[in-house]
This record gives sequence, C-alpha cells and structure tokens, in this order.
Amino acid sequence: MAEEAFANDINSIDTHSLRPLDAQWDQICGQLKTEFGVTAFDSWLKPLTVGDLNNGEMNICAPTAFMKNWVVAHYADRIHKIWEQKNPDVKKVTFVVQARHADTSLLKKVSSTPTPQNIYGCNINSSSFGLVSGASLANDTVKNNAINNAAPLNPNYTFENFVVGKTNEFAYAAARKVAEAKNVSFNPLFLYSSVGLGKTHLMQSIIWHIKKNDPNRNVIYLTAEQFVYKFVKALRYKDTQAFKEQFRSVDVLMVDDFQFMGNKGTTQEEFFHTFSSLVEEGKQVIISADKSPTDLEGIEERLKSRLVGGLVVDIMPTDFDLRMGILHKKAELMGIELPSKVAEFLAQKITSNVRELEGSLKRVAAHSQLLSGKEITLDMTQDVLKDMLRSIDRKTTIDEIQKKVAEHFNISVKELQSSRRARTVARPRQVAMYLAKQLTSRSLPEIGRKFDRDHTTVMHAVRKVEELIIEDPTLAENIEILRRTLEN
Ligand code: ADP
Ligand code: MG
Repeated sequence: MAEEAFANDINSIDTHSLRPLDAQWDQICGQLKTEFGVTAFDSWLKPLTVGDLNNGEMNICAPTAFMKNWVVAHYADRIHKIWEQKNPDVKKVTFVVQARHADTSLLKKVSSTPTPQNIYGCNINSSSFGLVSGASLANDTVKNNAINNAAPLNPNYTFENFVVGKTNEFAYAAARKVAEAKNVSFNPLFLYSSVGLGKTHLMQSIIWHIKKNDPNRNVIYLTAEQFVYKFVKALRYKDTQAFKEQFRSVDVLMVDDFQFMGNKGTTQEEFFHTFSSLVEEGKQVIISADKSPTDLEGIEERLKSRLVGGLVVDIMPTDFDLRMGILHKKAELMGIELPSKVAEFLAQKITSNVRELEGSLKRVAAHSQLLSGKEITLDMTQDVLKDMLRSIDRKTTIDEIQKKVAEHFNISVKELQSSRRARTVARPRQVAMYLAKQLTSRSLPEIGRKFDRDHTTVMHAVRKVEELIIEDPTLAENIEILRRTLEN
C-alpha cells in the first residue's frame, strides 16, 4: 500500500518543473523505496539529493559523513546500477557530504508520526519508565522534540482488553507470564505474527502490568527503528558510551517491530551485545516482529540463533469466534450498541486482520454518532462500508493467481512453485509473480514465500516481465487475458 501511495506521489510530481536529473532521481527513489522498504528508505535514502553530472560522474549528496558512509556501505552498488539503467550518461556515482542547514530529516520522521505504533519510548510519568535518555544526547534538540511529541502508550492496550481465542492464547499466556514473573523464565520472549494481530497490544499490556504491579522495574520500550535511530545519533555525537549504559542498565528491554532493525552492520552488532549482556544478567528481553527469527531477513546468524534461544510464539490469523469476541469488546469500549447481526456480518467479511476489523467498526460507529445516535443496522453498515467491502470481494489472492496462471500455461501449480528452471515453467512463474505484485497488496517477501523464493527473485521476475511486455506482444496479450479473468 505504502509503495503504491509512494508511486502515486512520484507520478504526480510535475517533472517539467524539475531538472531532468532531479526527475530521474525521484523515479529512482521510487524504485529504491520498493526494494529496500519504507523504513530504510526514509532513514537513509530520502535525505540524499542529486548534485551535478560532470563527465559521466554523478554526485549524490548526503547531509552528514556518517550518513554518506552508511549509504556507501549499504546502498551504493544498487544506486549505481539503477542510475546506469536510467541514464546512460552516468558512468560513475560518487557520494559526497553536503551539509544542509540542519539535519532534520530524521527528526521529522520521528516527531511527525506520533502514532501509538510509533512510540518514542514510553511517555509515562515515572522516571523509571520509558526511554530515560538523560545525558546521553544532551543538547540534542532532536531528542527533546521527539519526546515531547511522543504519543503516550495506548491506555486501551491492556491484558484486560485483549480478547483471547484459540489463535492467540499461547502468545497471551506467554506475555502474561513474563509480565507477572519475578524471575525470568524464558529469555527472550519473541512474539511474531503478520500485521494487525495484536503484537503491539500485548507488548504494551506487559508494560501497563509492570507499571501497576512493579513500578520500580526499569523498562525501555521502543521500536527497532527507534533503536537504530538512537544508535545512529549516538554514533554521530560520539556518545555511544552513554547509549550503551542506558540500554544495558534496564530491567526489561522491549523492542517492537524488530524486522526494522536494518541490515547487518554496526547497529545490529550493538544490539547483539546489548542483548547478550542483558540476558546474561538475567534481565528480560521481549521482542516482536512480523516473522519468526529464522525467517527474518538481513539479520546476522548469531543474532538469529540467540533470538530462538528463549520462547518463540506466534499469533495466528483470527478465527470467526475470536473476531466476534473482539468486535463485542471493542464495541463495549466505544460505548456503542452493536447488534449481533452486524457483528456477524463484519466478522465474516473482514478477516484479514484485527486492525481492519476495528477500523470498520469505528467507521460504522462514527457514522451512527454523526447522525445523532442513529441505530447501527445491517443496511447502514453495508452502506457505510461499501467501498471497503467491494474491494474485499474483488480481492484476488496469490493462490488464485497461481491456479489461473498454471491453467493458462498448461502446467500444474506444483510445477509453478517448484525449483525447475525450464523456460516452460520459469516464464509462467515469473508471470504469476508479476500478477501477484500487480493485483494484490502483498509485499515482495510475502509473494516470494508463496513460491518458495526470496524477495529478490520476485523483484527480478517483475522487472523481467515488465521488459517482456514491451518486447513480446503475444506474452503481453496472454497477461492481459489473465489479468481480466482474475479481476472479474
Ligand atoms: P500488530 O502490532 O500485531 O500489528 P496491534 O497490536 O497494533 O497489531 O493490533 C492492531 C489492533 O487490533 C489494535 O487496536 C489492537 O488493540 C487490536 N487487537 C488485536 N488483537 C486483539 C485482541 N486479541 N483483542 C483485542 N484487540 C486486539
Ligand atoms: Mg505493532
């Protein structure tokens, strides 16, 4: 979704008012964002600007030396390749430091997104809680701004408000155990699930529980992205000692959305040492991610193997009963009357994740309140949610795409998913990957998993098919037929 939105942004830029090089860079940025993900892009690539092109040498400016070095180490090759493809005049790409008035890019990112999912430490009025950064980044206004703007922990994310069902009972029990335990029983606790299934809710429930029952325990809760951000700042201000001390002196370290820990490198190394030292000292570490430790991409092996050393639990997609339970709980919290028929309808239709389910309930509730407390009915629900429901009804799945593509090319779905490289199988496979990217909102790694491949293979397939569509009208026509069948 974010990728699409970004692509639209890029498309809507009035390229005529830009230098051609800037316009090309904007397009390249679109591609980099897709390839490396929003987080990495925003942190490292967005702050870059293009300089001049002289005798085939393209200058790319980074605001600080640290950022330049990081980009050179992690992204330079790829940026170089894409430039070459985009503009044959570019023979060499050089990264230079060009300070701007202030490096506020990271600041903006943190402070302008104070959503509950993006908390900069916990904003709890207790010195022993949250990101007690004290002296660490002194005279650093970035830190102060971010903290002042930080969203508080969500007061609704408590164990009491978490509805337990078959698919999440184990995760719930583990989270409760960790919150209640005086002694560490498993370390780390690693929670994973796909998006919107309650990881952050459980993480914050643990904090609320500790805050209430054991307020002297020193807890740090932050997202991996914030960990990276803080570490990078500490490096930049040569303040890593304070950083280390701060993180290694906690009783409980909680890192949400660990998949954003960034690629292998200094930050991961730092995290590895912090982690090891805490575990050795018997301090609790709790981590959440969208994948199991073994499936995490870009994470060092030794770190992965430490992550599986405690208790790894997943939250599975919800079943109907759990969705019903959640709807009733949320309705109760919102103080609205939710007829069973409407709840059943929503629980049947909106199955993807709890966040969407809750979102639809909020929309219906808001509508009813705007109409001065008009009763919530099935008709009204269908009317308010019609766009959303239409898109759900139309939603094409990767399974369906695989089935249709296999049929169309006269091969089996098994062959499509196999490792065979024969052209008769490989080409349809690339087409299926391409269609999956086009017709579903699944990410590259998710698509890859359905084909037992990694995201780079999918990326390659998508590019390949894009080229072939131009070169090979027969294939283009086949793809168009498939697309139409799948969209109906
Ligand atoms: P994740 O961190 O896994 O992406 P969140 O914890 O942000 O998901 O959950 C998304 C929304 O769904 C939150 O508003 C949360 O309260 C709600 N939610 C998820 N699972 C449950 C549950 N079992 N009971 C109550 N609310 C839930
Ligand atoms: Mg979350």
